[in-house]
Amino acid sequence: DPTVLKDWQIAEAAEGNIPTTAQYQEMMGLQKDEIIPYGKTPKIDFLKVIDRLKDKPDGKYIEVTAITPTPLGEGKSTTSIGIMEGLGKRGVNVGGALRQPSGGPTMNVKGTAAGGGNALLIPMTEFSLGLTGDINDIMNAHNLAMVALNARMQHEANYTDAELEKRGLKRLDIDPKNIEMGWVLDFAAQGLRNILIGLGGKKDGFMMHSKFGIAVGSELMAILAVARDLADMRERFKHIVVGYNRQGNPVTTGDLEVDGAMTAWMRNTINPTLCATVEGQPCFVHAGPFANIAIGQSSIIADRIGLKCFDYHVTESGFAADIGFEKFWNVKCRLSGLKPNVSILVATVRALKMHGGGPTVVPGRPLPDEYTRENLGLLEKGCENMVHLINMIKKSGVKPVVCINAFYTDTPAEHALVKRIAEQAGARAAVSEHWLKGGDGALDLADAVMDACKEEVDFQYLYPLEMPLRQRVERIATEVYGADGVDWAPLAEEKAKKFESDPKYADYCTMMVKSHLSLSHEPTWKGVPKGWRLPIRDVLVYGGAKFLCPMAGAISLMPGTSSDPAYRRIDVDVKTGKVSGLF
Ligand code: ADP
Repeated sequence: DPTVLKDWQIAEAAEGNIPTTAQYQEMMGLQKDEIIPYGKTPKIDFLKVIDRLKDKPDGKYIEVTAITPTPLGEGKSTTSIGIMEGLGKRGVNVGGALRQPSGGPTMNVKGTAAGGGNALLIPMTEFSLGLTGDINDIMNAHNLAMVALNARMQHEANYTDAELEKRGLKRLDIDPKNIEMGWVLDFAAQGLRNILIGLGGKKDGFMMHSKFGIAVGSELMAILAVARDLADMRERFKHIVVGYNRQGNPVTTGDLEVDGAMTAWMRNTINPTLCATVEGQPCFVHAGPFANIAIGQSSIIADRIGLKCFDYHVTESGFAADIGFEKFWNVKCRLSGLKPNVSILVATVRALKMHGGGPTVVPGRPLPDEYTRENLGLLEKGCENMVHLINMIKKSGVKPVVCINAFYTDTPAEHALVKRIAEQAGARAAVSEHWLKGGDGALDLADAVMDACKEEVDFQYLYPLEMPLRQRVERIATEVYGADGVDWAPLAEEKAKKFESDPKYADYCTMMVKSHLSLSHEPTWKGVPKGWRLPIRDVLVYGGAKFLCPMAGAISLMPGTSSDPAYRRIDVDVKTGKVSGLF
């Protein structure tokens, strides 16, 4: 809408009022020594807060998820911030936890992930450019493991067993053709997907094929998001599999004796950083893992503190509910022991129309009429996707609230139709205009959420931990995605059988890898695809995070930079130091 201010103008106007450390302290009931000064905005001392408040009852736990994404956008982050503002306007003590955006998407296509319109997080420039420092610490700790691996391989190649023994080392006999781990960098650098390292002489490292992934895809990021505390993080850092020896047995960060030093680099990352909405509600920014090979959410640690400090704590899941909510439900909540009170399912009229068979959109071209004019037929058909996900969320015992995130092209009849269908499916529903009006636009949503929080939730996981891997995947595929069944490729089935029979993997989480653009594995199948089976071609293992990742599609852990990346438009005003072009 051309009459609305740009995000950076809204952020800039609000930044004069960003809470001071003392204000945060008062709003959140913190002691002075629980706040750690950190640039424009402080960090919170996790261990101190959790210890002091261990007996305080938790606040209400609100998760934000969405219908299956389309290129038209649904606005999960915008709604997560909008509901904090809406509840704030209702006078309740509310806060939340969001992810630190990665430099890769920020510099490539996505821009920032600080919400939008009047539902924004500040300080926006700092948030967009690595605010928390978590990603830098992850890069250092992760790359230290690679330094240890390559140095060890060089020394084992150059020394005899006796010479190694003199240095207190026992040969690990790492197989250079069976290395799991690569290096990390937080940009989308396709040229680093496959590299040769160790070129030169005998003392220039071990020559081998290697690779870079994006830092937010690092197993260390996955661990930061699920670790309960520093002790848990320390223990997990010992078991990261860097590769295999020539007998095919895993070689870990513990074997390389680098796990303690990695934890030392990461020690400060367990303390979440504070930001605020443009209307002043506190919001933690912590971790930022991929939603495919990890939970795609801010951390368990941020949720644990948020639930102690706020009466209502909001957390956002990446991707759609079939991935985001499923992982929140069966992985994050199982690990944390926390139980949600409500899940907000974000839907937009435009995206629902696309699920109903609306035409594809071409970036840079005007939107087809189907999306800018009333079209109840397409919309009604597309609501199938929303209804499928409402029913799926209800299987956990949580009754969702559908947030119809209003766009200026929507019509009242379209909003009424989505609301009616959502309510018929057993959800609460509210039209919300937080993007346009901030908290004042999200009052109906806030009321629906507060109302939902009065209900008892009989929270049940989709599968018990004792259920073997292949049965779990079958259950997720049929009950969550709506598939008829699962087809295992021979390699994947062989691996799955091994994991099922080895007690070492008994407490590993099942972390599905699937396209987020469809309920199925096929990104172009919109709506609710029928009559299909989920193919699993491989199973990845993360020994530190303790994840088994069944792969229903290819993933690249190093995205590419496009021909028209966002960095072309980003600059700094050298007189004021202000950054432009991020949003
Ligand atoms: P997600 O978290 O689902 O990826 P975001 O909340 O980051 O989505 O929103 C994506 C983009 O859509 C942002 O640029 C945001 O400003 C814009 N957006 C979200 N909701 C609305 C709305 N109701 N009207 C206009 N633009 C919106």
